[in-house]
Amino acid sequence: MFVFLDAGHGGLDHSGNYVSAPGKQFRHNRGSFHGDGWFYEGVWNRTLVQQVEWKLQRLGIEYLPLHHDYVDLSLEQRVEKANWYHRNYQPGILVSTHANASVNHDGRGYEIFTSPGVTGADRLAEIHWDQTETLLGDRITMRSDTSDGDHDKEANFFILRRTLMPAILIEHLFFDNFADASLLFDDEVQELFAEAQVRTIIEYFR
Ligand SMILES: [Zn+2]
Repeated sequence: MFVFLDAGHGGLDHSGNYVSAPGKQFRHNRGSFHGDGWFYEGVWNRTLVQQVEWKLQRLGIEYLPLHHDYVDLSLEQRVEKANWYHRNYQPGILVSTHANASVNHDGRGYEIFTSPGVTGADRLAEIHWDQTETLLGDRITMRSDTSDGDHDKEANFFILRRTLMPAILIEHLFFDNFADASLLFDDEVQELFAEAQVRTIIEYFR
């Protein structure tokens, strides 16, 4: 078992500045979130991936983070790193952690993406759909596209299209919607999102 973990975008640098593209943050008019109502997607992504890492460490499952502590590494760098280790060290699977945003801030729900067509990622995505639905289906909105017989959505995201291993990208709810953002800051929901990733990894390699 070997997993490439990716937390999308940048985080907080040592001076507390959020180093990500402007669209990767949102200020809510109530609540605190990462401070004064600001929700920083890249910071949340890192928090979740850290929880996944702790669980994998306890289980003795090997992983390699593709992201930096806070620098917003380019997608090219992340893909190059994953592909190098996949070729030269150990083949694995890739899970990229994100949260979503919408133009009118009214989008809600959870989506799993794979690259288009039938690929090795489809089974990974379907396992993850099932694990997430089992753990969180009663608390979150699960958004799917079942027109091609499975639950994942397909998109030409660079990290899915250019990586060599089965790869999924998870949009964990909409961080610019207050109700979804509040769920993302719920300790139990966060713990279950991390648990779902770990159970998916175990189930995939079983
Ligand atoms: Zn993102």
